[in-house]
Amino acid sequence: MTEPLITTPLRERAAQALGDRFLHEALDIATTRFIALRRDAFGDFPEGEALRDRARAIKEATLQRLDAHLETLVANIERLGGHVHFATTAEEAREIVLDIARRTGARMAVKSKSMATEEIHLNDALQAIGVTPVETDLGEYIIQLAHERPSHIIAPAIHKTKGQVAELFSRELRRPGLPADPEVLTKIAREELREKFLTADLGITGANFAVADTGTVVLVTNEGNGRMVTSLPRVHVAVMGVEKVIPSMTDLAVFLAILAKSATGQKLSVYTTLVQGPRRPGELEGPDEFHLVLLDNGRVAQLAGPLRESLYCLRCGACLNVCPVYRQIGGHAYGYTYPGPIGILLTAMLNGPASVRDLSHASSLCGACADACPVRIDIPRMLIELRREVNVRGIAPRSERIVFKALARLLRSPTLYRLAARIGRAAQRPFVSDGRIRALPSFFGEWTKTRDLPSIAARTFQERWRDLS
Ligand code: SF4
Repeated sequence: MTEPLITTPLRERAAQALGDRFLHEALDIATTRFIALRRDAFGDFPEGEALRDRARAIKEATLQRLDAHLETLVANIERLGGHVHFATTAEEAREIVLDIARRTGARMAVKSKSMATEEIHLNDALQAIGVTPVETDLGEYIIQLAHERPSHIIAPAIHKTKGQVAELFSRELRRPGLPADPEVLTKIAREELREKFLTADLGITGANFAVADTGTVVLVTNEGNGRMVTSLPRVHVAVMGVEKVIPSMTDLAVFLAILAKSATGQKLSVYTTLVQGPRRPGELEGPDEFHLVLLDNGRVAQLAGPLRESLYCLRCGACLNVCPVYRQIGGHAYGYTYPGPIGILLTAMLNGPASVRDLSHASSLCGACADACPVRIDIPRMLIELRREVNVRGIAPRSERIVFKALARLLRSPTLYRLAARIGRAAQRPFVSDGRIRALPSFFGEWTKTRDLPSIAARTFQERWRDLS
């Protein structure tokens, strides 16, 4: 298991988020903007739909021969002078990075944005052995200063307003009275980070893709920090989920054509950095050592599991932006590293179904996530599958299991169904007003606390049908 189970109920976490005015302001502005930018980007790109199908097919074909593609990747990286490490668990991945840090005498590590290193909680582990991690992506830098965790896959500080960032910088960087002006704040972050890039011994990144045929690790960024992290420190470590391998550069072109459009509505991200091993003789920049950590952490088991399709994920964040639940409660309320609809599936993959006992229900199953996903991952189908697993394994609360069992029995038997309709019609009378049930007693009150119900019709469909025929 990667992360400890969150004990605060989802309901409480969500209620807290719903009461946060700043969170709503920040989320509303950012997600609305992302949605419009994505729509415009694909609107101007007629090839987009066919490329999404192609990307999905590449992902599926790659997973079918994952072992062979990983072998090719490893052979090519080693041919280029790099080192490859396999980590079955988050603990193993952390230990590999810590060993490299210790052996190379690192004191400071600059990092570019990487969900894989968030997943393995690398920063705390580095700090514990005396290596200072410095996040260099602006959003990550903000949340590191705030001692928080990312609340979005591509926009880690999406939950913060400009004003909150100005206050944070004023306080943490001891520069009182900073204005809520993104340009000024970005300039200050750049000044602070410049020296860190030059003094760090270790550069740590994730990887958007790794091309097996050429041994190339690909980073897609907008700020250029990825390029600095991979070229200035004397050691570069990239941590990557095993599913990020793709066969060839031709495949890479397909993914690059849809990734930035889905994430931020850009035609292409500002920087696409291709890393091929350490610096070679005659080259002027690049690290002395290059290491790739291939992380399993529950992924390989899902090659034959119900969450297999979630291994297609490009981590573009589009499904978060369109999700009506995410847009209301933000990322922190989900409680684990990966938020949003895909985050629920990844959380189950990494931490087991018990971790998503409540989270698996944090979706209206409206399908907006699947529509927005560049590789058309059927997230709603897998969420239903997770709900089933949570129920079948006895993880769901007993009362919930009893109710669903009774309901299943009732829906399978026409006689029971008709009887229940008759009883329900009589029993509902004290609670109906204007055709709605707004408050129910005892256990059922949990349902009506946040929503109302239509009353049971005076005559069922079956009764009306019988009269017509
Ligand atoms: S599931 Fe699809 S939309 Fe969501 S982050 Fe992954 S690739 Fe993007």
